[in-house]
Amino acid sequence: MDKWQQRAYEKKKAREKQLRRRLTIAGGVAVALVASVIFAVLPHEPSMSSTSGQVAAGASSTEHAGAVYYADGTEGSVSENGAATADVSDTASGDTSVAAATDSAAQSAAAATATPVPTATPAPTATPVPTATPVPTETPAPAVPDRSDFAVDPNNQNWNFDQTAEKTVYLTFDDGPSYLTQQVLDILDSYGIKATFFVTAQNPDYFGLIKEAYDRGNTIALHSYTHEYDQIYASVDAFFEDLDKIAAIVQEQIGYVPCFIRFPGGASNGVSRHYCEGIMTALSEEVQARGYQYWDWNAATGDGESVTTEESIANALSAESQTIVLLCHDGELKETTVEALPAIIEGFQERGYVFKPIDRTSTVVHHEIFN
Ligand code: ZN
Repeated sequence: MDKWQQRAYEKKKAREKQLRRRLTIAGGVAVALVASVIFAVLPHEPSMSSTSGQVAAGASSTEHAGAVYYADGTEGSVSENGAATADVSDTASGDTSVAAATDSAAQSAAAATATPVPTATPAPTATPVPTATPVPTETPAPAVPDRSDFAVDPNNQNWNFDQTAEKTVYLTFDDGPSYLTQQVLDILDSYGIKATFFVTAQNPDYFGLIKEAYDRGNTIALHSYTHEYDQIYASVDAFFEDLDKIAAIVQEQIGYVPCFIRFPGGASNGVSRHYCEGIMTALSEEVQARGYQYWDWNAATGDGESVTTEESIANALSAESQTIVLLCHDGELKETTVEALPAIIEGFQERGYVFKPIDRTSTVVHHEIFN
């Protein structure tokens, strides 16, 4: 090789060397540029991890471009220039692949920063109500005495005038049924006790309660159809005419005419004298002759007049007999009876009394007759 040849060779080598240096510098600049771009768009928050995964996937798609760069044989200087990761170096070719990767990363980042679409609150799946197996409501058989002999019967004259063996209260309610009777029945049931209802026909709307009271184990007895003293005590016939009418109503409700009755005002009433002299003496004998028995009372709440609930309770609980027939009323405007009833029941229970409905074995209580 001559001098010129040598010089030309050296020039060529120098150009090649210079070109190689330029390429290296350009490559390094390109890698640094791309790296900074990628770093800028890479998500940095932990919550973006999934987005980072998308970036990595997008970058891997540009591996071919990176491979081209490596194949250019620049002695690995690019990687030494601090392309931190293979992903970044892969995108170092700096063409549309980088833009694509950047766009992809930007979109991913944008998607990540976008207000997350709230996942639709799942409609509460209504818990199906289990179809309860219907429990047969067993109506407890009412603990009632045998009432087959309660019907009026002239041939049955066996009455008991002796005191009861155990301390007994016969709760008796006159002048119903009325709008108060249902409450009385419920109170009685709540204590598991039974009473006797001497009924009238003053409130036809409540005749059904005669049957209900009976079905609940209470005794139904006759009081009066009109409860008008001037009519029922006008004569013996007038009295029985009235009695037969209430008897018919009761028979409709319970199937028979009961033998138990109570005179309006009691057998001791003096008002009857205004309408018929001696009628109570006559009636007291005649009703028994026809198979009835009449019950007066030996204790009263006093609710026949205007008394307070407290007075009603005190009046009732002042009774001290072994056998108590307590006069109460469940007719209209006798709210105090309803209000006093629980305390009356509890008061007698605390003193050891039991409660019974009237039957043919019950203690008959008669007043002295003045007319
Ligand atoms: Zn009455």
